[in-house]
Amino acid sequence: MGKIKVLDEHVANQIAAGEVIERPSSVVKELVENSLDAGSTRINVAIEEGGLQLIRVTDNGSGIETEDCEVAFFRHATSKIGSGKDLFQIRTLGFRGEALPSIAAVAKVECVTSPERTGLGRKLVIEGGSVKAFEETAASRGTDMTVKELFYNTPARLKYMKTIQTELGHISDYLYRSAMAHPQVAFTLRHNGSVLLQTLGNGDLLQVIAAVYGTAVAKTMLPIQAENADYTLQGYISRPDMTRSNRQAITMILNGRTIRNYSVSNAILGAYHTLLPINRYPVVCLHIGMDPALVDVNVHPAKLEVRFSMEQELTRFVEEQVRSVLRGQVLIPEAARPT
Ligand code: ADP
Ligand code: MG
Repeated sequence: MGKIKVLDEHVANQIAAGEVIERPSSVVKELVENSLDAGSTRINVAIEEGGLQLIRVTDNGSGIETEDCEVAFFRHATSKIGSGKDLFQIRTLGFRGEALPSIAAVAKVECVTSPERTGLGRKLVIEGGSVKAFEETAASRGTDMTVKELFYNTPARLKYMKTIQTELGHISDYLYRSAMAHPQVAFTLRHNGSVLLQTLGNGDLLQVIAAVYGTAVAKTMLPIQAENADYTLQGYISRPDMTRSNRQAITMILNGRTIRNYSVSNAILGAYHTLLPINRYPVVCLHIGMDPALVDVNVHPAKLEVRFSMEQELTRFVEEQVRSVLRGQVLIPEAARPT
């Protein structure tokens, strides 16, 4: 008898959960991405105790067909890609089919969903990876996912959770960026009942910036809009006198996906160059569009880091365009100008 065994599904899911579900904000991210992929125009997120007690994401998207409800929680089950070829043309936020089984492996999940407007749908209850109930229930069109007691069966992971305030900070940071990435979707975020974010979903990015950073900041933002043969840029950048103490307020969205990319954010900072006081950073929300075939999102389980070809061309374009918007402003105070 050989020593090598193929792991059972539950163990495999727990291993995947270790990668994909690092903390409460990972659950929020995965659920909200599913809601976005389902074409929702309204997404409500309710959190209790920094998400450790409860995370609930309610959407008005496509819902899940009755026969797909249980399958959705299987590993590598996805409606978003059908073959390896599709991996090179990804237009949805999800595609790995790992989120739901991973979440269900480390929490108590209740999914109420309906693809129709009949007022009827299904409720599926899964705890620690096993189905506890599956029944007909009253439901409006869309999906309502409740995740309770995250990491209840993985005490080692639970021990690593930081304070409620820290976990909530990660969640709100993610939701602010999502709202900026999708101004056509109405988002709300509530923590222990109080509203932390509310956007209208009317497509106006500046309105979302106002909801996130306040109207005073939104009023001073400069619009940026440019395109060449390869890229489109669209968004808002702050005047150099409206700064922050860290890079957190730089949001970059590539084809609708918020990304972290050091070269692109450095290009933005490079454009501000000496206009910013030392250790101060601008508020930026930049939508970048490019051919999805040139972007590889399958680099990182949480898909935060992406790779794309022609990175240098893109950074050069971003830097030039940001600089040219800043140049259009009267930046040098009267007194300091050469006469
Ligand atoms: P992925 O998003 O990578 O496909 P998930 O595990 O996140 O994998 O979800 C599995 C499947 O469940 C999705 O492909 C989708 O068909 C369905 N699904 C999950 N959440 C929703 C939702 N909010 N609305 C509609 N369908 C959903
Ligand atoms: Mg998903």
